[in-house]
Amino acid sequence: MSLSPHVEVRNLAVTVRGPDGQPLRIIDDVSFDVARGEVLALIGESGSGKTTIALSLMGYGRGGAAISGLIRVGDATLDGAGGASLAAQRGRRITYVAQSAAAAFNPSRRVIDQVIEPALIHRTESAQAARARAIDLFRALGLPGPETIGSRYPHELSGGQLQRLMAAMALITQPDLVIFDEPTTALDVTTQVGVLQAFRRVVRQQGATGVYVSHDLAVVAQMADQILVLNRGRVREQNRVAALLEAPADDYTQLLIAAAHPVVKAQPIPAKPEPLLEIAGISAGYGPIDRAGRPAYPVLSDVSLTIGRGAAVGVIGESGSGKSTVARVVAGLLAPVAGTISLAGETLAPTVSGRTREQLRRVQIVFQNADVALNPAHSVGDILGRVLRFYHDMHGADAQRRVAELLDLIRLPATVAERRCDELSGGQKQRVNLARALAADPDIILCDEVTSALDTVVRGAILDLLADLRRDLGVAYLFISHDIATVKALCDEIVVLYKGTRVESGRRDGYDTPPFHPYTDLLIGSVPELRPGWLADESVQAAAPLAHLAESPDLCRFLPRCPVAMAGRCDVAPPPLREMSAGNMVLCHRTEAELVG
Ligand code: SF4
Repeated sequence: MSLSPHVEVRNLAVTVRGPDGQPLRIIDDVSFDVARGEVLALIGESGSGKTTIALSLMGYGRGGAAISGLIRVGDATLDGAGGASLAAQRGRRITYVAQSAAAAFNPSRRVIDQVIEPALIHRTESAQAARARAIDLFRALGLPGPETIGSRYPHELSGGQLQRLMAAMALITQPDLVIFDEPTTALDVTTQVGVLQAFRRVVRQQGATGVYVSHDLAVVAQMADQILVLNRGRVREQNRVAALLEAPADDYTQLLIAAAHPVVKAQPIPAKPEPLLEIAGISAGYGPIDRAGRPAYPVLSDVSLTIGRGAAVGVIGESGSGKSTVARVVAGLLAPVAGTISLAGETLAPTVSGRTREQLRRVQIVFQNADVALNPAHSVGDILGRVLRFYHDMHGADAQRRVAELLDLIRLPATVAERRCDELSGGQKQRVNLARALAADPDIILCDEVTSALDTVVRGAILDLLADLRRDLGVAYLFISHDIATVKALCDEIVVLYKGTRVESGRRDGYDTPPFHPYTDLLIGSVPELRPGWLADESVQAAAPLAHLAESPDLCRFLPRCPVAMAGRCDVAPPPLREMSAGNMVLCHRTEAELVG
């Protein structure tokens, strides 16, 4: 048996044409080995080169990038000198699991036909044998109804299921190397846990060799045997997972580890501030409204919350929980079908067109995707200048002075005013987005997943900035996020939404220890911890819900997924709102004592 590594990379360099037309080396002198049956994680922020390296393992250079150095996977090499070329092995001996499986599947074909297709194209086995192998993989990946799920179409399956099916497609040819490229980044945290468990199980069972690309250290701590830390195309550190996490040698690794734990930056929680924004009994949704006043696609049901002057309230939940709809309703972008919104005691019209300019000025919204929100062709100065003109009738030198002040507030140099938005990094764009909201001089900013698209280190810096702005300017936040750690780092109070219903609310310290609503418990327990072995812990193994208890709009919405649902109580009457001794309000049939246990 050969003792040489299964994957060998020596002095890898990738060169592209830079903006000035000169060659630009984006990967420089990268070397590593992966033993057969092991998983190596490539970790780093965006721009670190992790995906570029992963693609070069398939002999692929994006946009005509030139790859040099030695790469060997099994007996295939970059130039074919080892007996086969990497590019020729793509899809068969080297396979790929991408971030968005939904985009990778053809919507008009049954999934089984797509999963076995690589085996048929590369003639690794007969259609019958490939089908049998696919069903075994479905089972190993924990997919429901492994015998029949393949006959469904992609749109009939959830994001987490499609991601598992894509892993089955990648493993169907029994490859030498599977590249996982941020395969759970687009999933909700509660879905991610199950997918990670499935991947880990199947990789072990199949003895597959993997390269796992991720920006999330806690995720790779569960999935990999070794971690390679990259920064600007260079290797900063490589080690076994436990050793790297316990004793990071490189200062950049230390920075990444520190950034993985958002620190509470919120001020001490003020005693009852004067109410600023009051949302009372809001119901809202999309599509035509029926005679009973219900929209065709209801999203929010009877949601209330109050934000005090200068306070920060976080709203968390999975995708589909309705958290972004709360911001849209408050901003007047979607009219509610019931309920009221008032600002400093004044009732706001349901939509923007009915609100005064002064009311619009006082409530600003910042979205997740700064790229879409900012016109790339406009300069930063133009973008901020427009807001100053519209709300404050400010022009000329006054406006220029204010633009410089705003840039200073968001910690960018005044020279950025001349730059076009498409010349800025993701973190800089999000700062400019914030500056645009601040230019209105608002009482409250609705922050809709403003840090979700950012790397951990940049995210930490934006959270710091938000905390400082709140302290210095007294601005209030409605902060929407899917990530409880981010919300806890910034907010005084947290509201948990599940399918448009408020299931828990209370001060952030009430979320440190149980009792929690069972859904809050699931959200908190699903966030990967920065220690190997967390995923295998018993507490992370999802308790099976009582599957026979069906969802009903009149009962607890969490019933079909609740691991502690009680037949005879939860499936009979709507849950009561209970106050826990820490002050948190929980919508559940279970008593405080039951929720602690
Ligand atoms: Fe679970 Fe019942 Fe509480 Fe709903 S009311 S969260 S089903 S225990």
